[in-house]
Amino acid sequence: MNRQIAGVRGVAALLPVDCAPWAAVEERLRALMEAYGFREIRLPIIERTELYARAVGEVTDIVEKEMYTFLDRNGDSLSLRPEGTAGCVRAGIEGGLFYNQTQRLWYQGAMFRHERPQKGRYRQFHQWGVEAYGMSGAAIEAELIALGARILRELGVKARLLVNSLGTPACRERYRDALVDYLKAHRDRLDEDSVRRLDRNPLRVLDSKNPAMIEILDAAPAIADHWSAESRTHFADLTAQLRTLGVAFEVAPRLVRGLDYYTHTVFEWVADETLAQATVAAGGRYDGLVTELGGAATAAVGFAIGMERLMGLVTRQPQTLGLDVYVMTPAALQGRALVLAEALRDQGVRVEVHLAAASAKSQGKRARDSGARCVVEAVDEEGVVILTAGATQGGTVSWAQAVARISEILGAKAKIDDE
Ligand code: ATP
Ligand code: MG
Repeated sequence: MNRQIAGVRGVAALLPVDCAPWAAVEERLRALMEAYGFREIRLPIIERTELYARAVGEVTDIVEKEMYTFLDRNGDSLSLRPEGTAGCVRAGIEGGLFYNQTQRLWYQGAMFRHERPQKGRYRQFHQWGVEAYGMSGAAIEAELIALGARILRELGVKARLLVNSLGTPACRERYRDALVDYLKAHRDRLDEDSVRRLDRNPLRVLDSKNPAMIEILDAAPAIADHWSAESRTHFADLTAQLRTLGVAFEVAPRLVRGLDYYTHTVFEWVADETLAQATVAAGGRYDGLVTELGGAATAAVGFAIGMERLMGLVTRQPQTLGLDVYVMTPAALQGRALVLAEALRDQGVRVEVHLAAASAKSQGKRARDSGARCVVEAVDEEGVVILTAGATQGGTVSWAQAVARISEILGAKAKIDDE
């Protein structure tokens, strides 16, 4: 046998056993997107590296050490997308989606970050992202948060919602000074990354995942003390609307998030704070980003769900439609069975035919495992036997009558299910 070739570390296939629950959750998420008036946008997986340098920020974990960056054959520096927001804004500007319009968009797909693989942290992972453009008030933030809360609630995911405000760029300037003073006073206790960030992008120090830094960061000044009247009003408006909507939240004074262009609201859902991989979904307002990327000033707010982390927390699986019919057949009748299966599919019935050489016994086991509502066995040129369909047992019908009889049984079953 040839030597096996290993997959890439931190990059996993989803096997069929994983795909079924993923697909069920994705189907539910699509329905919820529609329920809130969001439309899908499909974004490229590669972008120019400069997009992420500018949008996510030079001094971030993502850009400094996590991107898959390469030169293509023309010598252009490209990167696999590490997140979706930058590409969404880039595509929205080029596609003319923003000027004097509102947009509610969602996307989903694989993202790539060269991180140390561990539970809940992979090099290829999936995000479900939701972005809203052209709405500057707290109401759209409240609605997005209500959508996130509904997703988690419906799927039986327990997570705390943390919210904070980064204020306006002017608030951040003032806060930055206070934070730098504090951090400089404790310089000897900062790790190497934090010392570097202290000069280049001090707010990022608060993002540190290093447990040794937690104590010192917990005692750091809070941005709330530097909010302008506008920021204060915006935040009060948001929290009042969340209360009216019955969405539980906690104010987290030191929550700052990934992008450099967040303004006002930031939020995240945290499932279990003992884990570094606790954040299942996160987002915020990023009014500065569209202009930063060359578009007209556009209010923007969004969040992304980490799908692997979400799937690890789901306790209430949405139901999906399974197989309707499983057809067992000896090899000699496979051709006939295929004709029957096609005729059933013409009626909208979902069918699998057993096409491997196998004993009736092992076919029976496979049929039971398939979860099909109706099991059909091809007997001879004359007829087929309907083995089980709910309470219905046995009954030989001719090939010619089979479609009508099976449809009838499934229809009756469907009516019972509907009641
Ligand atoms: P973390 O703090 O866990 O590193 P982050 O702040 O880098 O997350 P975001 O850029 O806000 O994460 O991405 C949104 C969500 O995507 C995260 O809350 C998480 O659920 C998920 N996510 C981010 N990085 C990974 C990864 N490497 N593997 C799996 N999921 C991830
Ligand atoms: Mg990260």
